[in-house]
Amino acid sequence: MSAPLLFGPYGAGALAHIDRFHTAGANALWFHGFDKRAFTQCQAKGIHACVEFKTFRADFDTHPELIPIGADGKPIRYGSLVQGVCLSQSDFLAETEQHLLDGLETYAPAGIWLDYLTYAGWFETPEPDLQESCFCPACIAEFCQSTGIDADTPREILGHHQQAWTRHKCERVAGFAARYAGLIRSLRPGTIIGAYMCPWLPEEYNGALRRIFAQEYGLLAPSIDVFTPLIYAHKSGRPMDWGRTFLEASPAFIPPGSKVQLILDILDYPDSLEQTARSAVPTWGVQVFGGAGIFESPGSVRTFREAVEAIRKQFTE
Ligand SMILES: [Zn+2]
Repeated sequence: MSAPLLFGPYGAGALAHIDRFHTAGANALWFHGFDKRAFTQCQAKGIHACVEFKTFRADFDTHPELIPIGADGKPIRYGSLVQGVCLSQSDFLAETEQHLLDGLETYAPAGIWLDYLTYAGWFETPEPDLQESCFCPACIAEFCQSTGIDADTPREILGHHQQAWTRHKCERVAGFAARYAGLIRSLRPGTIIGAYMCPWLPEEYNGALRRIFAQEYGLLAPSIDVFTPLIYAHKSGRPMDWGRTFLEASPAFIPPGSKVQLILDILDYPDSLEQTARSAVPTWGVQVFGGAGIFESPGSVRTFREAVEAIRKQFTE
């Protein structure tokens, strides 16, 4: 994939500042869904339009049937930020796919970043509530059928087949990634395919990246061009150099052909961006969540431009 390095804000709120993107060194905007207004304005200003596409996230209050089942046989505990659904809910999955198809038919984004492509949980917090899921009868049957393992309770699965269970979940998520990537590549060839990722290293929280969220870089790599971990330092109780340490650790667990592009949080701006620009392993462009804030003052615009220049330089040296 030969694609331009992309830098810019996440969030349609930044459209109000689109005239100043070039001054800031920004050449892209990431926004939620296939947003007509965002496409129109990006096209008019020569900005790469990138869609954040919601996969496995739903309002559990209105759709309780989508709540994954925990190891105790009950729906999992969840808060307002939870992502992930029971992946045996075929109506929901069909609807999700239809949204993607409708969007691809109408728009030609520069990139599509798949969001919430995980099993259930939430990681933007220092104290995550990690729960194994989904143990509904259909998901257990799916596990038994695809692995040939005969186990019908969470206790049996977690007690005797933990590795196979984790691998199965990762393969299931990677299967959806492959399906969505196939649709994007056939309908809109050349579109960059990204995925927002749990930002934890593979060994953190007892392997929760795979064990809980079912995100395995190696399995996702054939479908995903750009991996985007959510480096929200303040929210996650991490230091401002978290992005840099992630990037510098990434060659050990991210396949060499894959690109890593951080999304940083405006709450950590500009410290985490300045740290990121100093990483020995460069980020393949950058997104800033709540990125309208970049344009708050001439000083913060200049900071963004300087970081973009520093990162670009690493790719030309
Ligand atoms: Zn289920």
